[in-house]
Amino acid sequence: MTTARNFIDGEWVEAGSDGIEMFDPATGELIGTAPRGGKAEIDAAVAAAKAAFPAWSETPAPKRGEILFRAAQIMESRKEELGRLVTREMGKVKVEALGDVQEAIDMAYYIAGEGRRLFGNTTPSELPNKICFTLREPIGVCGLIAPWNFPIAIPSWKSLPALICGNTVVFKPSEETGGCLTAYVECLLEAGVPAGVVNIVNGTGEEAGDALVKHPDVPVISMTGSTETGRIVSKNAADMLKHVHVELGGKNGIIVMDDADLDFAVQAILWSAYGTSGQRCTAGSRIIVHDKVHDALLDKLAKAAAAQTVGHGWDDAVEVGPVVRPSALEKIERYVKIGQEEDGARLVTGGARPDLPSELAGGWYFQPTVFADVTPDMRIAQEEIFGPVTALIRVNDLDEAIRVHNGTRYGLSGAIITRDLAASMKAMRALQTGIVYLHNGTIGAEVHLPFGGMKATGNGHREAGITGIDFYSEQKTVYIDYSGGLQRAQIDT
Ligand code: NAP
Repeated sequence: MTTARNFIDGEWVEAGSDGIEMFDPATGELIGTAPRGGKAEIDAAVAAAKAAFPAWSETPAPKRGEILFRAAQIMESRKEELGRLVTREMGKVKVEALGDVQEAIDMAYYIAGEGRRLFGNTTPSELPNKICFTLREPIGVCGLIAPWNFPIAIPSWKSLPALICGNTVVFKPSEETGGCLTAYVECLLEAGVPAGVVNIVNGTGEEAGDALVKHPDVPVISMTGSTETGRIVSKNAADMLKHVHVELGGKNGIIVMDDADLDFAVQAILWSAYGTSGQRCTAGSRIIVHDKVHDALLDKLAKAAAAQTVGHGWDDAVEVGPVVRPSALEKIERYVKIGQEEDGARLVTGGARPDLPSELAGGWYFQPTVFADVTPDMRIAQEEIFGPVTALIRVNDLDEAIRVHNGTRYGLSGAIITRDLAASMKAMRALQTGIVYLHNGTIGAEVHLPFGGMKATGNGHREAGITGIDFYSEQKTVYIDYSGGLQRAQIDT
């Protein structure tokens, strides 16, 4: 049985009889329950985080960094166990599950170093005998709401920058992956993060998540999930003028130009479109292909997609694991039907549940799927399916490719595969996405660089890198006037 627990004011709390059931997506088996926290648990967790704030925020940042450095080492020593938990709770394949954990390890090492930086700015003054600089200060209790698709990486992206800045946190994990968050927080505690500084309240978004967003003692909310949830969270936080960061959905496009190495392009598309069974916010769900190579690419991609091995994520031979829950599978099936019937696109390969051995019969699997003859305005080219489905759109030149690429409401990750430097440079500037890949698919991120999207993918903030530090700290501008007289800026210059 899995061990999703609440952690409030230094005490672990097991699920009660009303716990939320958790299932293994690979087999459909019940693997445990998560506590069904609500307003009362959120109130208790926020009170604990508020009480822990003065001592933690006054702990020197380099000391906080040393604790988080130890957390990185502990996660490294538990990497395989944490990776197994990721696969068990949300299904992704072994290499990606271990990569999920590695992202948290990387973030912990990176952020530990920030404990000795947390740089501000020092600038000259426009007046004599005056010094100006900025200081970073923590804000308070941060409410961190996470999805299930990167169940260790995303909580680390949110919590580690918050903690290094001196904030305390309350987590609301996804209902699917509370065991992963429990194990992650265990690593922080073993490293020396004090009681009350980190708290977990499992529960549904509508109850626990909503109570966290609306709590008056939580000035900071960071949430990753769908655009619809992001909108609700933003509205609910607006009355209290909270600092809100939302990282939301995507409909990412990969442009393949007529000079591309098609074998490489296929490899990049497979990894982008079918990695994590298409359940990445950066999933390559639109392939925008130059007419001259369209048919050749389609042929190679369809064969390669059909040859992908689907099965249990922890099996070394498997390339595509299950999707997270039955409703995700039903949504994918619905979109395949929409693609064929409503949109009139051509299903080239996939489009159905695969035949698998009997021990996996209860799991939630879908074949890697390719649609062709897709036009830019079709629903399957506009809406996030969040499954192993990708759509080929034919274009005639780079300008059209860029126009099609930018023609969705989302703006997370964009990519172009070409040997032409000028085309790459043009796309680099023109793609309306927070992340651009030249000569690769729409894949993931490195922790020391900003991560996030434009348009309906976010609200202008960026996670990770120094931008993560910016979000979780207040900047205070300090002026020291040692002239001995009254010097008036803009007047006595
Ligand atoms: P989701 O359904 O929006 O849920 C995200 C989190 O918000 C969950 O913890 C959820 O709780 C909680 N929540 C739901 N309603 C809430 C409310 N009214 N108030 C407060 N919290 C609430 O998204 P998901 O299915 O977990 O994740 C998939 C989505 O995330 C996709 O759209 C994907 O593109 C996006 N995503 C974006 C990024 C990025 O960086 N841009 C990264 C990863 C994923 P429950 O689970 O308990 O309902």
